[in-house]
Amino acid sequence: AKQAGRNCLRFFTQRLQREADYLMQLEQDLRLALAAGQFSVHYQPQISSHTGRVEGVEALLRWQHPQRGWISPVDFIGLAEDTGLIGELGWWVLEQSVRDLARWRQQGHALRLAVNVSGRQKQLGLQAASVLALLARHGLEASDLVIEITESLLMERDDDTQAWLEAFTTQGIRLAIDDFGTGYSSLSYLKRFPISVLKIDREFIRDLGEAGEAQSLVEAIVALGRSLGLKLVAEGVETATQLSRVQALGCDQVQGYYYARPLPADELLFWMTRHQQD
Ligand code: C2E
Ligand code: CA
Ligand code: CA
Ligand code: CA
Repeated sequence: AKQAGRNCLRFFTQRLQREADYLMQLEQDLRLALAAGQFSVHYQPQISSHTGRVEGVEALLRWQHPQRGWISPVDFIGLAEDTGLIGELGWWVLEQSVRDLARWRQQGHALRLAVNVSGRQKQLGLQAASVLALLARHGLEASDLVIEITESLLMERDDDTQAWLEAFTTQGIRLAIDDFGTGYSSLSYLKRFPISVLKIDREFIRDLGEAGEAQSLVEAIVALGRSLGLKLVAEGVETATQLSRVQALGCDQVQGYYYARPLPADELLFWMTRHQQD
């Protein structure tokens, strides 16, 4: 038994070692990936649940690793945050997506852009003034951009979070709370911070139409959002049933595979042309 235990431990430490090696390698690769042009931005349409029209797109980062293929942002955003690389990478996403938006505008598509911003980018020096200057360089306005943040940022105990966010919103950039409902936080921040949009997490949308409390949870979130004058976006709508549920519940916008997966810029244009004809 002692021998078996020792083998088990060895196996365990070997596995930890492999994981550590993997992460170190990934971190090294991540550092080089930007310069090597391995990142791209895909876009997922955000559709009015009242009119069916495409009102905006969410920019979602993609990494094509030369050996490992596509790596999900779920597997590298955390690492980019821990290493501080998210500063540079997050700025690159903003530049890239604002440039794409400007081009679509010139082609006559009245879209709005939503970009995910990590709380770490605040600490790493992302400034509202730089974002506004970026928009201006491309002939765009503050109201063309929505910044998606998570509840955890609002729960941080440092005082400058509010000032940092207000620097964006006083100039007209809007804020959305991503994955709303998954945090365990108090709701008081919804009044304290200048939020415009709640994105209802896909977890709740997934269970709509099944027995359980998803329906009443979404109802409650919509009521809460309404009472605070916020816009409501349903994330992760995959089926016609889910779509009709969120429409009936009064969500303003819908995003999900039912309409489209996140698409490369040129495919998005193609998709929009087809969608608008239907
Ligand atoms: P998120 O911001 O909540 O983005 C929505 C995620 O749900 C995306 O995953 C999207 O592809 C996926 N999704 C959309 N519709 C559906 C659906 O109908 N069904 C299902 N099952 N999934 C759907 P993705 O692109 O893998 O991104 C994962 C997360 O990585 C994002 O979650 C966001 O937190 C983070 N992320 C992505 N790009 C960036 C970025 O540029 N900056 C930062 N800071 N985070 C990013
Ligand atoms: Ca998001
Ligand atoms: Ca989300
Ligand atoms: Ca999420």
